[in-house]
Amino acid sequence: MLNISNLHAEVDGKAILKGITLAINPGEIHAIMGPNGAGKSTTAYVLGGRPGYAVTEGSVTFDGADLLEMEPHERAAAGLFLGFQYPVEIPGVSNLQFLREALNAQRKGRGQEPLSGGEFIKLARAQANELGLDPEMLKRPVNVGFSGGEKKRNEMVQMGIIGPKLAILDETDSGLDIDALKTVGDGINTIMRRPDRAVLLITHYQRLLDYVKPDFVHVLANGRIVRSGGPELALELEREGYGAIAA
Ligand code: ADP
Ligand code: MG
Ligand code: MG
Repeated sequence: MLNISNLHAEVDGKAILKGITLAINPGEIHAIMGPNGAGKSTTAYVLGGRPGYAVTEGSVTFDGADLLEMEPHERAAAGLFLGFQYPVEIPGVSNLQFLREALNAQRKGRGQEPLSGGEFIKLARAQANELGLDPEMLKRPVNVGFSGGEKKRNEMVQMGIIGPKLAILDETDSGLDIDALKTVGDGINTIMRRPDRAVLLITHYQRLLDYVKPDFVHVLANGRIVRSGGPELALELEREGYGAIAA
């Protein structure tokens, strides 16, 4: 599904990613862990197509298409979902409007007709209920005045409604209390643990991986993957710290 090959990228002329190679198949959950400053967020930004992040070498394909040639909205329409540590607030745009546009863009990408207003509202309410978000929050401006936990639940509702092929979640667990962490974990498992979907979970800490068991764990240090393994690698990192492994 996602094939990253020898990816190099720079920001403001500074080399940050120094040759990342990683393949993610449908049905797989991969975790990227690593110390602060390793290039984890940069990896997510480059895959999402954020301006200012220049790829200098290497390639990325998504379902066989050249991801790096696609505009950010085309990447989303192709089935890529990005979740970030600090979800953006969008005053003046209701959650429902935002979600409906996002879903219909994705449906268009799949050659499907847009959902009617009624069908969409049913879907949105069902997802909100399933993920423990008060459905009233769907009417409010996107994330404005939401607590940290509510933003995360909202992000899971977005993910549930859109139904992406690949979700890349960057430090989506940071700052969450145990209840919110469990919601996020349950959300990822319910929505994304399917043979046709895949997840790239980016996290500094092991604790989210207690809820979402990754198939593969990769350690990123200084812009490169320095180790890969199974879920036991996350526990080893938790015990021994990054120093021993990423040095
Ligand atoms: P991580 O998410 O693993 O903590 P980042 O990808 O955020 O790491 O950052 C990797 C490196 O890139 C860090 O050394 C950081 O200082 C640098 N960096 C990130 N963004 C910029 C920027 N806009 N300008 C210059 N350096 C940056
Ligand atoms: Mg960081
Ligand atoms: Mg980061």
